[in-house]
Amino acid sequence: MIYNVSGDKMNGKSYFIKRAYGLLGRTTPLVSDCGRLCGGRCCKGDSETGMFLFPYEEEIIKNVENFKILDCEGNFGYKMVVCNDTCDRKTRPLACRIYPYFPVITENGFDVRADIRGIGSCPLLYENVKINYAFIRQIRKIARLFSSDEELKNYINDINAMLDEIEEFAERMI
Ligand code: SF4
Ligand code: SF4
Repeated sequence: MIYNVSGDKMNGKSYFIKRAYGLLGRTTPLVSDCGRLCGGRCCKGDSETGMFLFPYEEEIIKNVENFKILDCEGNFGYKMVVCNDTCDRKTRPLACRIYPYFPVITENGFDVRADIRGIGSCPLLYENVKINYAFIRQIRKIARLFSSDEELKNYINDINAMLDEIEEFAERMI
């Protein structure tokens, strides 16, 4: 049995996701509240727009009040969660915690990239703002953590391949 830092029992592989939540802690993309730049745009979805869940994360999120888990396309067989534009920040999914960035695993190590899926809405991707280095560093640590599990590693690589395709398509359109 695995225990987290507070001594709670951790079930199965969802340990990886909880560990990632712990690595980020309260660290956010800016030192100040980035929601002030845009009015919290990434939290204003609709009943069909949701956040992609990572492998093993459904196990954690399914117990959170006011979250709805749905089947979806484009998430490599994993589900998505829809919220009602508000949440207890402690329970938000990993996709919200790392947005608008994504971990990268390469043969040479670990990195972090801007997530082009946010380009139309997140000012962090197009305004001249100073990103909190600690935030990027913690996402890189998540890349390292997830590289030790085959399913998480494959998922990270699949999403990165998809982001490459979107970027190539966007470049062709310019
Ligand atoms: S859209 Fe970007 S800047 Fe706005 S709250 Fe979300 S992460 Fe912060
Ligand atoms: S779960 Fe929370 S942080 Fe994520 S989009 Fe919904 S309100 Fe925003």
